[in-house]
Formats: sequence, structure tokens, C-alpha cells
Amino acid sequence: MSVFDLTLQDIHSKLRNKELTVTDLVDASYRRIADVDGRIGAFLALDEENARRTAQQLDKQLGTDEPRGLLFGLPAGLKDNIVTAGLATTCASKFLSNYDPIYDATVVRKLRDAQAVTVGKLNMDEFAMGGSGENSAVKPTRNPWHPDHVPGGSSSGSAAAVAAGEVYFALGSDTGGSIRQPASYCGIVGMKPTYGLVSRFGLVAFASSLDQIGPLTKNVEDCAYVLQSIVGHDPQDSTSLNVTDIPDYLSALTGDIQGLRVALPKEYMGEGIDPRVKERVLEAIRVLESLGAVVEEVSLPHTEYAVAAYYLLASSEASSNLARYDGVRYGVRTDNAGNLLDVYRYSRSEGFGPEVKRRIMLGTYALSSGYYDAYYLKAQKVRTLIKRDFDNVFANYDVVVGPTAPTPAFKLGEQVGDPLTMYLNDILTIPVNLAGIPAISVPCGFADGLPVGLQVIGKALNESTVLRVAHAFERSTDHHKQRPQLKA
Ligand code: GLN
Repeated sequence: MSVFDLTLQDIHSKLRNKELTVTDLVDASYRRIADVDGRIGAFLALDEENARRTAQQLDKQLGTDEPRGLLFGLPAGLKDNIVTAGLATTCASKFLSNYDPIYDATVVRKLRDAQAVTVGKLNMDEFAMGGSGENSAVKPTRNPWHPDHVPGGSSSGSAAAVAAGEVYFALGSDTGGSIRQPASYCGIVGMKPTYGLVSRFGLVAFASSLDQIGPLTKNVEDCAYVLQSIVGHDPQDSTSLNVTDIPDYLSALTGDIQGLRVALPKEYMGEGIDPRVKERVLEAIRVLESLGAVVEEVSLPHTEYAVAAYYLLASSEASSNLARYDGVRYGVRTDNAGNLLDVYRYSRSEGFGPEVKRRIMLGTYALSSGYYDAYYLKAQKVRTLIKRDFDNVFANYDVVVGPTAPTPAFKLGEQVGDPLTMYLNDILTIPVNLAGIPAISVPCGFADGLPVGLQVIGKALNESTVLRVAHAFERSTDHHKQRPQLKA
């Protein structure tokens, strides 16, 4: 058993009793990375010297009464679109292969305040565009449960590193499902908080009205700890919510969901959902019922338009956000240009991968005059309808549940030539981003050896209820305790 299989409470009590040091934890992380990451491909960069120095400093605190941070000593990985001062941040793109940020993202600062130890940066789909990890310009990441399968994406490395026991927890970002879907494929917990609850300052922008940072952990309690450590208003992010009374998420984990009203949208269990996934979710619902929850079928009638609206809105925002990569101010500049226009043209042609180019073209088209009303504006209206669908359901229910993804992890290479099929994997996660509300994916079983995730969706700023339901479910099952058979 890995030290990372201990609960956070156990780790902290062992640290207190001097049965363990932070250096031991950091050692365990780098040892595991050395043993398995050649086969997983979760990491893009390690920060070993700094991590060991931090561990030594934290170890000095062990014998003292100095109060400990919530995440004291825990080795963490960061998705490579979260900027870290002095540590390369590439978004798994050739364009940013030489980018060394001069500042830390707010979440990085908050992790440091909570006394976690950053061990390195994690692989992802380039600029967070993708759902399999295969759009990384560096290397694909593999699913720790099965090397022929994808780990999901775009937070591919974040999910795989946690599932493979390379770090204690990771941060990812979720624009249309990029935390929850890989968490589901890798058999771990992943949460997208309410839009604006976690600062985006220092998160490299993909689609700014949708992007949100969140935790990937092995269980719901750890998720609550990490969430607690990273939330809060940030004047450096103009979309950050000024929430004055942040709840105590840990105290929400009561196990009591007696009488809780749970909605199961019929659209989430219909056509296109793998029968094995449906079965696991129906089993999960029986568990919730056995705990006293009242589950009823509802309709979210505009679900089928979510993917189309998302790919117009997210791509439009991406085309605008990624205009900054011009070969002049950031990242890599072409060697092949004779004039300024060619600097832009060739830097962008050489720097971006095919999926990023596809999104930029789609978004630029959707925003162009003459097409704006037909595409961008229409998609915004659909977004409002999707949000209203949730508002209507939440008038009568506490949470919405369903699968996180329509299928378990697919095979590497299986969908690369078929972007539309790839986009449809996000059908159950995207509506949540469009509505700006919180959701978690929690392991609910297996389909032929590959994990399946249950999604629990809540009202805006009601992370507590989402966590409470996921935790109550987890306590009654042992899916989250299963580990991939990755021989060291
Ligand atoms: N898979 C979706 C996409 O490709 C979601 C990505 C994300 O959430 N960053 O856009």
C-alpha cells in the first residue's frame, strides 16, 4: 500500500507522531514518478529541488506547535496551464515551450499558504482543448487502469497522476468537463466549483466565461480539503465572486442525505449512453435511495443543444484569448519570417497543434460580421435556456445526478480522426459549465475493468450539498478504494 492511500487525517497524525516526515512524502512521490511515469506520461516537468527544500522547511515545523496548513506536507501536481513562477508553464503546447512565468497563479499561492508541496506540472490537451489527453503536443498520457486507453482530458495528467499514486492530489481546470471526465475515466474524484468561486488569476485562458480550476483527489473528503484551501475572492480576477461567508465544506460531510431530493434527468440516461454506464448509475441511485434520498425523473429539455452551443462559445472565446500568441510577446517565434505578417503567420502555424487551429478557425468564423447573430448570439441564447432548465429543476430538487461521461475510457487513437465523436463525450458535463454551477464526479463502479463516474450537480455556490451527497454515496461503497494494478 502506498503512503498516498492513507487518509489525510492519518497522514497528518503520523506527521504529528513523527512516524512520517514531509520529506518521506515527497520522496514517495518522486520514487513513484520514477517507477511508473515512463508508462503513464502524466508529468511534463518536475520541481524536485524546490519541493525537497520546501519539505525540509516543513519538517522543521514538525516538532513545534506552529499551526499547520490544511494541506500540510501533501505532494501536489498542477495542470500545466496554471502558471508557476520560475517553473515552465507550457499548456502542453509547442507555442509556450519556452515560457517561464514571472508570477504564481492565485491557486498556487493558496496551496503554498495551505502548506502543500508542488512536485511538478502535469500533462494536458494543448491549451485544455480536448477530452483524451491526445492533443498534448508533448506526449499522450495513458490510463493507469489500462495502458491502451486514454485517461480522459483535458486534465489528463492530473487525473492519471492521482490515480497512479504519483501525487496525493492535483489541480486541474474544467471548461466543458476537463476535471470531471478524466476523473471519471481514471476512477477518482474530480470537482468543478461554481464559476467564480476559485480565482482564475494565473490560469492560462481558454474560454474565460467557462474556465474554472478545481481539485482531483482519491476521495470526497480530500476534495473538500483542497477546495477549502483554494476558494475565495481575488481582486486580481474580475470574475471572482465576492463570497463573504465561505462554508466549512468538511462539516458538510455528515453522511446524512435523508429526505434529500435528487433529480435524474431522462436526457442523461437516454440514447448514446453505454448500457454498462447506465447500470452503474442505476445502482448508485439505489444506494442513494437506501440512504433516504428521494430520487425522481426530470427533464432538462435543452441538453441536446449544449454541445453545439459550447463549441461555438468556447471556440469564439478561444479565438479571442489565443490572439495574444503572435510570436512577438509570448512563447516561440518562427525562424522562417522575412516580415512582420510572416512572424504572425508562421509562428501561429508552427506553434499551434491541429485541434487548437480548428477551434481558432471555428471561433473566428462564428464571431465574424454577418455570422455573429446566427452563431455566437444564438449560442448565447441557448446557454440561457440551458441555465433555465437547471433553475427549473433546482426549484424542486437539491441535486441532479447522472453519469459523468456517456462511456468508460476509450482506446488511444480510437477517436482522434473524428472530432465530432470526441466532442460528444462531453454531452453530460458541458451543460454544467454553461450554467456556471458546481458538479463532482465520484467513482461508481467499473465496466470491464474501466472506471465509471457518477456526476452530482448542485445549485450555484452549493458545493456543500454536492460534497455531502458524493460523500454519503462514497461511504456506502468501496469503488474509490480500488487501485489500478500498476506494477512498479
Ligand atoms: N473536452 C472539452 C473540450 O475539448 C472540454 C475541455 C475542457 O474542459 N478544458 O473543449
